[in-house]
Amino acid sequence: MGDETDSICPRCDDETIHRVVAMMEGKVHLVICTRCNSQHRYRPSLATMTRKVPLPSVRQAKVLKKIESARTSRQQVSLKEWQALKEVAGEMEPLPYGPGASYSEKQIVFHPTFGLGFVRKVIDKSKIEVVFEYEIKILAMNRPK
Ligand SMILES: [Zn+2]
Repeated sequence: MGDETDSICPRCDDETIHRVVAMMEGKVHLVICTRCNSQHRYRPSLATMTRKVPLPSVRQAKVLKKIESARTSRQQVSLKEWQALKEVAGEMEPLPYGPGASYSEKQIVFHPTFGLGFVRKVIDKSKIEVVFEYEIKILAMNRPK
């Protein structure tokens, strides 16, 4: 108490030197502006505020978590597996991929984003597991239009 600190004065509308008049829980609580002598709650100076790194908002944190889990759950395709599948695919004509179509195991599909894929597993009536060159994807099928 009695110390001087930089704070924003609402009356001066400026960052001025204040004298600490009250502390609360170890933090500066009430201050008096040495310029206009008004007493008010302590507000950290702009320098103090900009020094703090803002924490991600709840929404941002959720998105970050999603990206993180997607990254760790993504299965890697080994080059060996991919080459083996390509050999099996041989001369087969790839089927264009669309969520409304129906596929069965060992078919070759062509996805506009992921490229050539190999249906490794039919999970259920509406899902297939497809091995692409860089990743394994669960794709929809038989989706009603
Ligand atoms: Zn003031």
